[in-house]
Formats: sequence, C-alpha cells, structure tokens
Amino acid sequence: MKLIFEKSRPGRRAIRWPEPVAPVSLERRRDLCRSSPADLPEVSELETVRHFTELSRRNFSVDTHFYPLGSCTMKYNPRGCEAAAALGGFSDLHPLLPQLRHGGQLTQGALQLLYELERMLSDICGMAEFTLQPMAGAHGELTGAMLMAAYHRDRGNRKTHVIVPDAAHGTNPASARLAGYDVLSIPSRADHHMDVDRLLSSIRTDTAGIMLTCPDTLGAFPARITEIAAAAHAVDALMYYDGANLNAILGRVRPGRLGFDICHVNLHKTFGTPHGGGGPGAGPVGVAERLRPYLPISRVRTHSDGTYYLDYDAPKSIGYIAPFYGNFAVLVRAYAWLRMVGREGLRAVSNLAVLNANYVQERLRPHLDAVNPGRCMHECVFSGRRLAARGVRTLDLAKALIDRGLHPPTVYFPIHVPEALMIEPTEAESRETLDRFCDAVIECVELARRDPDALRRAPATTPVGRLDEVAAARRMDLAWTGPDGAR
Ligand SMILES: *Cc1c(COP(=O)(O)O)cnc(C)c1O
Repeated sequence: MKLIFEKSRPGRRAIRWPEPVAPVSLERRRDLCRSSPADLPEVSELETVRHFTELSRRNFSVDTHFYPLGSCTMKYNPRGCEAAAALGGFSDLHPLLPQLRHGGQLTQGALQLLYELERMLSDICGMAEFTLQPMAGAHGELTGAMLMAAYHRDRGNRKTHVIVPDAAHGTNPASARLAGYDVLSIPSRADHHMDVDRLLSSIRTDTAGIMLTCPDTLGAFPARITEIAAAAHAVDALMYYDGANLNAILGRVRPGRLGFDICHVNLHKTFGTPHGGGGPGAGPVGVAERLRPYLPISRVRTHSDGTYYLDYDAPKSIGYIAPFYGNFAVLVRAYAWLRMVGREGLRAVSNLAVLNANYVQERLRPHLDAVNPGRCMHECVFSGRRLAARGVRTLDLAKALIDRGLHPPTVYFPIHVPEALMIEPTEAESRETLDRFCDAVIECVELARRDPDALRRAPATTPVGRLDEVAAARRMDLAWTGPDGAR
C-alpha cells in the first residue's frame, strides 16, 4: 500500500477555502508565519477517505476480530454508550462553563452524571468515595500511591517501602516509586503463585502499603487476603487493590470488604469503554473512609437544594491530578454501560467472563501447560515451554494466530512465567468464537510438531512480516523519504 504522500499530485485538493481576507492580527506577527507552505499531501477527498478506510481495514480491533489480550479486558464497547457520549449536552460542554450555583444550569446534568457514577463505583467496590479524575489505570495507581503517602505524612508515620509481588503489572512498582517509596518485591513460588508466607513475613512497621492485583495476573484469586489485610493494618500499612481484573468479581466481591483501603478500576477494561490507541481511558480511584480528605480536587458535591457543584476546598487534598472533569466522554460511556447492564447484569458479566476463561483453559489444557491446576478466574495463563523445547517460541505461535484472523493473546506476561501466553476471552464472546480460537491454537501447536518452520515464518498474510524488534526500537526511522530524498 502506498503512503498518502506517494499518492499526492500537485494542485489536487479535497476542499478549497476562499483566499483569506486581511489576516490583520497575523500581519503584525510576521515572525509567526511560515516562509514556505507546509509540506502536506495533495489528494482529493475521495482518495483521502479510501486511504484511511483501507488503513483501518488492515488493523485488528474489537469490532473486527476476537481480541483475547489477557489483563487488558478487550470487551465489546456497546454502540449505545457511544450514542450517549455523543449527546449534544455532553459533547458540546465547555470545561469552563460556570458550575456554581448561579448560571450553572448547563453543567448540572454532567455534574449529576459524575456524582452518580462515583456512587455506583463506590457501591460496586465497597469504598467510601471515588474520584473519577485519573485518566488511565497507571494514572490511578499513581494517584493511589500519592494518597498513601499523604495519609502517612499526615499521621506522622515513618514509612519507607511498598510491598509488591513480582507477578504485578509493571505500573505497580513504578507508581510506588514515583510516590517516593522503595519497592519490596516478593518473588513468586516455584509454581508461579504468590508466596503468601513470604509476603506476610516481609511486613514491617515501616511498610507503607501492599499493592495486590486480585484476581492476580495468573487469573487466580490469591488466598488469605483478609489475613494479609489484618497484618498490614496492624502496622498501619494500607492495602492497595489494582482493579484491572475486576471483571472477574464484578457484582460479587467488594474489594473494600476484603480489607482494601485504596482501589483503582479501569473503565476501559471492566466498564466497557474503548481502549482507543492506548487511550483515552479512565482509572477512577476509590478510598476507605479515613482516606477521603486526601482525594484530589475537584470533588462533586450537592447543595441543600439538590443542585451540584465542584468543590475545590480540601486542605488535605493531594491537589490536582487532572484538569476539569477528567476524561469526561469516557465517564459518560461507563455511566451508560452501568445503566444498561444494571445490578443483576454485573453478576452475569463476571459469571460469563469466568466461565469463558475456564472453557478456553480446559480446551487448551491437553495442548499447552496451564499454570492453574484447577479453575481460573477471568483469564487463563499457559507456559509454552514444551513448544520452546522444539524450537518454537510463544512469539511464533502468536504470529501464526494473526494469519488465522485472530488477535494474539498477551505473550511474555506475567514475566515470571516462561514463554507465557495469557488469554482473556471476556464475557462478550460466543462459544463459537471461543471454539474457533481454540481450534486455531491447537492447529498451531500440532503444526509446531510437524513443521516448526511454518510457524517461525508467520505472519504471511500481513502487509509487514516479522520485524527486527530490537532494530525497530534502537534504530527508529519514522520519517518518510520522498523519491528525491526529501523528508
Ligand atoms: C492494564 C493494567 C494496568 C494499567 O492500566 P492502564 O490503563 O493501561 O494504565 C495496571 N495493572 C494491571 C494488572 C493491568 O492489567
């Protein structure tokens, strides 16, 4: 496929603007004007539309392909939620419209939505209050770690480190570090599961908190959570819940009831909003009662007459972590999703997510090494080490799935499982789709025995085959070079 610059012909236009009339303000600022025209492709509107439609068709997305990316919860994003986010009252809202009591009518609906979404999330997670401001899971974690630090500072606690199991997402230790703590990493046991005894014996008086993902990144619900929480609270350490895997327990288990004090959820995972191209997302953070004073500003509050306003008066707050309402359009989608699914629907979501993952786990168990000997939660993890012994790596298997019209699962995460393959089907997929996926994986595993080279050559159906990933990262070349060498 040609680049749009290669399709360019001098003078071709998609649209013709009238010549500008007296750009007075610019006349005075000649220094801000270009000396030569911008080097843009010259193409017709039809060519532009075809170009980008063609490009989009070469991509994998939840709308076009099964997308079993473990830990990412790539579920269907209902069109109804898109329609809600596109409503003029939301999409035309300017962040600087007045939200105070007088003249704030235009923002009342938006503020009510935020207020109610905060309460729904608090209810689902068993937390006293939520902030909707963080714009991603990692941003939520950073907010949570800052809340932890503010709490300890305020109480005069001398705390030095945060405990994180080595199976955690890399953003966990990074967030703890950014909040000023050392990270005490707990190695997993030989069977890859969390070493609870070692974790318990690592808790000291200067432990600031413990960050846990639950279910963990193996798709297993860690044992003895309440025991860990009691030991943490005995030294005034806080329990942090990484809620990226909330899809497994939605409507059934409230992290707050397990003893967690801070939790973040990923609206772009569990609550049906799009991941986009790595964004936009939202990572709201919930806290237990004693952490409320530290939540970021602003807070949505109600006047006695039931109208809503934004409150910036919070002396102990960690301050701003995002401007205005956070990632507002994402919050509207999550609100719409929750309203559509309802309380009973939430339980159906987690039921089906867990059932689907177990279905895949048991179909693939005879062919790959399952990390969980028993049932899994919402995702299942395999090690491809038997294939690796025959010279076929998990990466080769993943690439071969692309040729079969499937987005590969997560590979090489969690990092402590050799040749890891992590599959999360979500509740949104049908049994037929799961069977088609399992059939393709099994076909590839068998092919690895007969003709390992066929897998090592994959993908063959994509515009670009295997890349030299090291060179792609180290010797990046992102600029197009024209026929005359111009860039
Ligand atoms: C996705 C994920 C995160 C980070 O969320 P982002 O929105 O990608 O920043 C953190 N922890 C776990 C376990 C995750 O899967």
